[in-house]
Amino acid sequence: MSKDKILYQGKAKTIIKGPKKHTLIQRFKDDATAYNKKKHKIFKGKGILNNRISEYLMTHLRSERIPMSFIKRINDRDQLIHECEIIPIEFVVRNTITGSIAKKLDLKEGIKLKKPLLEYYYKEDSLDDPMISRDHVQAFNWATKKEIDKIDKLSLKINTSLKKLFKKKGLILVDFKLEFGRLKSNRSKVVLADEISPDSCRLWDIKTNKKLDKDVFRKGLGSLLAAYQEVASRLGIGH
Ligand code: UDP
Repeated sequence: MSKDKILYQGKAKTIIKGPKKHTLIQRFKDDATAYNKKKHKIFKGKGILNNRISEYLMTHLRSERIPMSFIKRINDRDQLIHECEIIPIEFVVRNTITGSIAKKLDLKEGIKLKKPLLEYYYKEDSLDDPMISRDHVQAFNWATKKEIDKIDKLSLKINTSLKKLFKKKGLILVDFKLEFGRLKSNRSKVVLADEISPDSCRLWDIKTNKKLDKDVFRKGLGSLLAAYQEVASRLGIGH
């Protein structure tokens, strides 16, 4: 492993130089962080589960023609991905009220929205990822209008697709965060990047509303690994 050239250390993933030009390796770590790193713990095997869950969801989305940086999973921890320039925005899609929006607007947890709500957050840890509007994105040149229009469309398509997929597995897709980037090999091409896993989605059991995502860690509700394992099993992902 010593020949691996680490390019970036993230909270839950490490980015390593790829085998070919314009490729990277995305390595899933066992670290879980919450509240902008104020809470941090290692869960042995979490990275392996997220690698498999994200592979499964990305492969499903690829079959629905969502452009993405994901190429393939190469082992327990690693994925081969297309190198891209990450747009510094977290794109959040909500179907049900919970989390930061419930707190900020004093809304009742669990209210189902009539239509999905799209939100933008500026990715800057030192500012605690502040919420921004579409106009901020354009005013500060974080993305063009054309790019945001495209990303909104993709986000809604991803939401429709994943909501349906999870419903079949007895899970409610409450909300989730997406990241997008511009391909290094062709900057005019915007693609889905990062991961989709219980670290970045809220998933509730359809019958009991039991939380099966990172809220288990955020709120200390029990075993995070058991929750992620449950999601993997429901998706039919073996050991
Ligand atoms: N989310 C994420 N990374 C972040 C912030 C949010 O993956 O840095 C996800 C989170 O898991 C949830 C959705 O985005 O599925 C909406 O999160 P929210 O704004 O409610 O923030 P939180 O309550 O997680 O602070």
